[in-house]
Amino acid sequence: MRSKIVELEAFALDDEGRGIVRDEGLTVFVDNLLPNEKGKIKLDFAYGKLKEARLLQRLTSSKDRVKPLCPYYSKCGGCNLMHLNYEAQLEYKRMKVQNLLHKFAKIDFEVSKTIGMENPYHFRNKIQVPVKNIKGKIETGFYEINTHNLVPNSNCLIEDNRARHIIEEFKKTCEEFKLEAYNEDTRRGVFRHIIIKTSRYYQQIMVVFVTAIDEIKGKQNFLKAFLKRCPEVTTVVQNINKRKTNVILGEKERILFGSGKIKDRIFDLDFYISSKSFYQTNPIQVEKLYKTAIDLAALKGDETVLDAYSGTGTIGLCASRHAKNVTLVEVVEAACKNGIENSAINNIENAEFVIDDCTKYLVKHKDNQKFDVVFMDPPRKGSTNEFLTALIENSPKKIVYISCNPVTLARDLSILKDKYEIEEVIPVDMFPHTSHVETVVGLYLKK
Ligand code: SAH
Repeated sequence: MRSKIVELEAFALDDEGRGIVRDEGLTVFVDNLLPNEKGKIKLDFAYGKLKEARLLQRLTSSKDRVKPLCPYYSKCGGCNLMHLNYEAQLEYKRMKVQNLLHKFAKIDFEVSKTIGMENPYHFRNKIQVPVKNIKGKIETGFYEINTHNLVPNSNCLIEDNRARHIIEEFKKTCEEFKLEAYNEDTRRGVFRHIIIKTSRYYQQIMVVFVTAIDEIKGKQNFLKAFLKRCPEVTTVVQNINKRKTNVILGEKERILFGSGKIKDRIFDLDFYISSKSFYQTNPIQVEKLYKTAIDLAALKGDETVLDAYSGTGTIGLCASRHAKNVTLVEVVEAACKNGIENSAINNIENAEFVIDDCTKYLVKHKDNQKFDVVFMDPPRKGSTNEFLTALIENSPKKIVYISCNPVTLARDLSILKDKYEIEEVIPVDMFPHTSHVETVVGLYLKK
């Protein structure tokens, strides 16, 4: 192994929020170095290739640097931009989208300012906490970056404020009933994770105990004691995951208390959330995201709308208020079932859910189903060539693309851009202090 120490200045941030420096033509990514900051960096090479770049010392400080408010920031893998002031985080996200559109789609478009939060803390409504035994005590915390070492924490600045009390009381109840965390090596013990889901609008909180075994010893008394300590909890679910895996949830579940679901509200619509259903994790930004998308669709009330990749139908159902009818296509059956239930509790009669692959659906109905407006919100891997080709053939007047990955967004726009004009590109900050960016793109059919 060959090493060298260099003094270099970062000129940009990469997709993961690392500083980018260049050394003799080599592009190097360095954690915790901001643009215009100079650092003393150790480069390790093996077999002629760069293996690791480590910041030994920061020599200058950017005007955008702030001291992270979270004491666990340097160890926790959750956030990666907390050393950058919030305004600069929003600008970083805007530029990231703009650069990727240029690079992958040859689209030079002035991306709008990122829609941020007024107070970018304590927003997260789904808190998943690993549980471990440390020195004979049950502890909760986070895994140190790239490891399975649990670092106990007593606070997290992004989680809903109501979660912390529940986590602490859970630990005390475990101690009282001598219930232990699951040990991955000995494969003994009970609890693997505790998950808390909160409703922003209603006073409802769900707790999910993920256990490695079926029966929690003294379950009824344990539950009674826990609920006495946490009267704010409205439902408790036990999820059983016996597998040797990093996946948090197992298949089997039982409701221990309450209805097994909570309800939250987006605009004037209610949505049920169960332990397994997908629901956006930033309830404050979700309304801004959907409002941006629905505004771009400029619905007048007489449109036939498609919500592709609809999940539990949140976007399409919100849009149904402003359209003639909405077809929602989603491949996961459980999500569709949630969606049907969601349209029923809101008395929505102009929405139809279809369980299908979006590509297959659009190809199948290419001759008998025309849409005026299409919302599409695919997963990180983006859409498919076939879907986009079928979409162009369907020729809706408007397409609103909601993307959680600007790389695949750019790729997909490069296909749409011949027939569709970009009206606006608006990033929305759903995950402050991370490099993640959500983007809404409005497109209209060229004349
Ligand atoms: N619009 C929703 C969900 C977006 S997540 C919301 O805002 O909450 C993307 C969704 O696409 C997931 O629910 C996933 O199950 C679904 N999905 C992924 N591939 C799909 C495909 N090929 N066809 C239909 N749905 C798909």
